[in-house]
Amino acid sequence: MEEKVLIVKFGEVAMRKNNRPIFISQLVKTMRNNLKKEGNFYIVKEQGRLIVEDRGGEMEYDRVIPKIVPIFGLVGVCPGVKTTDQSMENLRKVALNHMKEFFSEQKITFKVEVKRADKRYPLTSKEIAADIGGYLLERMENLTVDVHKPDAVLRVELRNDAYVFSKIIKTFGGLPAASSGRGVALLSGGIDSPVATWLMAKRGIAVECVYFHSPPYTSEWAKQKVEDLAERIACFTGEIKLHVIPFTEVQLYLLEHVPHDKLTIFLKRAMMKAAEQIAYQNHALALITGDSVGQVASQTLQAIHAINSVCSIPVLRPLAGMDKQEIVDLAKKIGTFNISIQPYEDCCTIFVAKHPETRPKTNVIEAIESKLKELDSLIQKAVETKEIIIKE
Ligand code: ATP
Ligand code: MG
Repeated sequence: MEEKVLIVKFGEVAMRKNNRPIFISQLVKTMRNNLKKEGNFYIVKEQGRLIVEDRGGEMEYDRVIPKIVPIFGLVGVCPGVKTTDQSMENLRKVALNHMKEFFSEQKITFKVEVKRADKRYPLTSKEIAADIGGYLLERMENLTVDVHKPDAVLRVELRNDAYVFSKIIKTFGGLPAASSGRGVALLSGGIDSPVATWLMAKRGIAVECVYFHSPPYTSEWAKQKVEDLAERIACFTGEIKLHVIPFTEVQLYLLEHVPHDKLTIFLKRAMMKAAEQIAYQNHALALITGDSVGQVASQTLQAIHAINSVCSIPVLRPLAGMDKQEIVDLAKKIGTFNISIQPYEDCCTIFVAKHPETRPKTNVIEAIESKLKELDSLIQKAVETKEIIIKE
């Protein structure tokens, strides 16, 4: 019996001895979740690996691999074959089929590497490798052997069952979903905040997203864009909760009551305050934003200081030290860029000052804000009337 499987390798997870079983179950859970719409799959733990088996027929690698690659905590995915029959005849045949599937066209150099968990096997690893290598050379004219720097390594692993594979698709690493506590990400429709959210999710933070929506100044399209971004991030993390907070009243109140060149600072402070309430309600320990130091007027260090002083929980800014181009490159890699550049603005021009203050003084901002008697209750009301959207 032989069947196509995925051999899935995990990295950093394996090093943390105490948490290992919990981390591995989390990986299995995320894998199951990502595959549930694709058919009937089974995930088996096998000596430091996870094996994905397709119970619905022959596995289509092209359909299944993209569902596994985005999962954080994995280091590599190998399309391969599992066989229960470990006789040399069968191993030769399985190896040939596999090599023909992946390397039938181009001329390549290769070598065979064998790992043998069961040392009672009648042949040594070297003998098995030489046997299979010779068999392949006779039957595939495009192959030549290079043991030092081969283009392809055919791996044969003899465990409870035998596994044959040759490609390792590198994945993103990181830590398994939700293994590092919960955070609330301020997700706008821009390029930066989805990347920031992704980076923190990669480190195992279970992210909930918050979007501040100001109809009619921001359109339904802008909101849809944020939903699409959340859905894209959910490919990596599993289900994501998006809190949409109606912020029009808060914005109009600030527009009327604060100096226009400082408006963005007050607006961002109001957003942070509201996001912090969402964090408290959901037992989250940090906020996440897409700020990059110096990128725009509200992201100078002085502005960050003036905004941050409203927060009492940590604010993670994983893009703080990145250039715009680096952020764009990463956005493209994770598939959020094309959604972010859809032309629906996340902020209306009446709320944007022509000459925003770039060096606001925190004490001045706080003094002005202390006189805004209705602000807190407007923020409170906005949070209470939020809409929750689940994306997966
Ligand atoms: P982005 O590309 O993420 O929109 P940006 O460069 O446009 O960021 P700002 O508009 O100054 O920068 O926003 C800084 C951060 O504040 C964003 O990265 C995001 O985390 C948060 N933010 C801004 N507007 C909103 C919003 N409408 N809803 C939720 N979060 C927001
Ligand atoms: Mg923006």
